[in-house]
Amino acid sequence: MNSRIYLSAPHMGGLEQKYINEAFESNWIAPLGPNVDAFEQELAEKVGSKGAAALSSGTSAIHLALKYIGVKKGDKVFCSSLTFSATCNPIVYEGGEPVFIDSDPDTWNMSVIALERAFSDAAKEGWMPKALIVVNLYGQSADMDPILELCRKHNIPVIEDAAESLGATYKGKNSGSLGDFGVYSFNGNKIITTSGGGMLISDNTQALDKVRFWATQSRDAARHYQHSEIGYNYRMSNILAGIGRGQLRVLDDRVKRRKEVNKTYKSELGSNEAIEFMPVASYGEPNFWLTAVTLKKGSNVTPYEIMDALAAENIESRPVWKPMHLQPVFTGCGYYMHKEDISADLFERGICLPSGSSLTEEEQCRVIDCIKRLF
Ligand SMILES: *Cc1c(COP(=O)(O)O)cnc(C)c1O
Repeated sequence: MNSRIYLSAPHMGGLEQKYINEAFESNWIAPLGPNVDAFEQELAEKVGSKGAAALSSGTSAIHLALKYIGVKKGDKVFCSSLTFSATCNPIVYEGGEPVFIDSDPDTWNMSVIALERAFSDAAKEGWMPKALIVVNLYGQSADMDPILELCRKHNIPVIEDAAESLGATYKGKNSGSLGDFGVYSFNGNKIITTSGGGMLISDNTQALDKVRFWATQSRDAARHYQHSEIGYNYRMSNILAGIGRGQLRVLDDRVKRRKEVNKTYKSELGSNEAIEFMPVASYGEPNFWLTAVTLKKGSNVTPYEIMDALAAENIESRPVWKPMHLQPVFTGCGYYMHKEDISADLFERGICLPSGSSLTEEEQCRVIDCIKRLF
């Protein structure tokens, strides 16, 4: 049997062990500690935000950002539909209700015309969303300027779900740093990983202080254990932050390598008339987290046939996210489509190919040959 090829495997840089050892030597085997503080500072500096709060996951970062904004029972929140469920689950944790926004076919990210329609319908019906969560899909930034303009016009705070786009840029700025809050994930399959973890960034350092307070069980400043608010156990551990510090040092290399992987797929499969690549928008530079393709309508090979053929050769691949407005758990939530239902179409025709930075040339050849043989 050929060795397993993963969609996006963890790829350590070498320095992680040093920071973990420091934690062991000083016995900081705890949530909080010097690696956590340093990881927050180093990441904030890297992406150009005033501060960062290291948390146990990207999901918890979205949750506490929504809580800070004040989403409560019955509040509506606009949210990209084409994403992983972690983007919108926290809306429901706080009793809110997602209203999903479709993708633009040119970017696969939030459609500005669908968002405009959502705002104008809301205004006509006499309500406004409490917040907007915009996703930067597969490592490419959404078109933030018109989205921010619409939100500023209506005074709606923006959470940028940059879980997949750390290291990408939008008009020269770092993806994740454009909204009021930005969220990164260090889950095992992301561009850099701490095995599990997340970061909330913002220029509002007061908000980040409050988030850190909630994330450590809302302990009041008293000598005894006193709580005036409900808290969470959402902090990142000092060991995992050590892995994060090592990983951050190699982020630029990881982006570079994923871009090469994407380029190789394009040069090898780009001439196949049935295969189209996720478009790269001219306003920025993706981090190329995953290379995603769609099969043209009427192609005699389906995404599931490709996934099955790859699986038979011990190669992992995945369908494009099933949009949230099609998920059983979100039945009944509002949805604004582009001109037609773009995210549903991308789901039906899309597939994500192995894209890890540790993928070898030989392994990528195996993937490409397997796909070519199907046509
Ligand atoms: C991975 C991911 C998350 C969740 O991050 P976790 O750290 O796994 O909680 C949120 N949004 C998107 C778009 C993701 O890809």
